[in-house]
Amino acid sequence: MRYLCVLNPQAGNKKAAKIKASIHTLLQEFSFETDWFISQYPHHAREIFMKYQPSDYQGIFVIGGDGTLFDIVNAQMNLPNEKRLPLAVIPAGTGNSVYMDLFGTDPQQIEKSIERVLNNKTKKIDVLQVKTSQKIFYFINILGFGFTTDVTRQAVHYKFFGKQAYTLAILKKLIGLKSYPLLMELKGKKYELHNTFVSILNTKYAGGNLLMAPKALHNDGLMDVIVVNKLSRWELLKTFPKIYDGSYIESPYVDYFQTDKIKFSSPQHKQLSPDGELCQELPVEIEVIPEALEFFI
Ligand SMILES: [Mg+2]
Repeated sequence: MRYLCVLNPQAGNKKAAKIKASIHTLLQEFSFETDWFISQYPHHAREIFMKYQPSDYQGIFVIGGDGTLFDIVNAQMNLPNEKRLPLAVIPAGTGNSVYMDLFGTDPQQIEKSIERVLNNKTKKIDVLQVKTSQKIFYFINILGFGFTTDVTRQAVHYKFFGKQAYTLAILKKLIGLKSYPLLMELKGKKYELHNTFVSILNTKYAGGNLLMAPKALHNDGLMDVIVVNKLSRWELLKTFPKIYDGSYIESPYVDYFQTDKIKFSSPQHKQLSPDGELCQELPVEIEVIPEALEFFI
């Protein structure tokens, strides 16, 4: 059994680096042969297959958060389908939304992750493909633009607050709230909107513990789209705490639907935030690639 271990030492305010030794020991106890890829700079993990041949391994342990997983998803999606490796996630990030979606909040995370690999049972999940005017990339958790992207940018500065980083960033960005014109293309129809933010999800959770898409299933061939239309600061302030239990989708300012394909554009410059990262901008075309990646379950 030979496995790749990808670790982002910066993940989770250096949590990943702290648990490295114990993971290493446990994997040896269970007779795993491992090669370790320790990322040295942002998105380094995307280059993993420049160093290692996927055909030499049975799977990948991803030790980090949603950001680390985002890089591995992109590295894997650049391989042909049959060469992609099943993933085992050891959650060690600021946000571990994908892990939560797959396994809930399990306290025995390291041991359970190893056990899942030993059981050798896997599940395929959907991946969302994003086309901008400059590049194609992939995500499995959330892509947003508008207000939430501003929040993500702010949350980076608050990472030392751990799980509260997003909540604090939300409050900070409320002060400068502004809507913007947005064109949405859905099933051959065009919609002109005054938008506050858009979130597109493959998983129920985002930002760690925010229940942003309560109806999302990661293997139904559909993305969950949340369009928050123009609203006042006060309305947004009232609506936001309801993200924790998903009840915000009942708000009259929120449209929530599912689709396999969607397009957005705006005359304004709008940066994208896929899986907690910041990259590229509108216009964008998003499409579901059903069951494109495998996870040990
Ligand atoms: Mg889905």
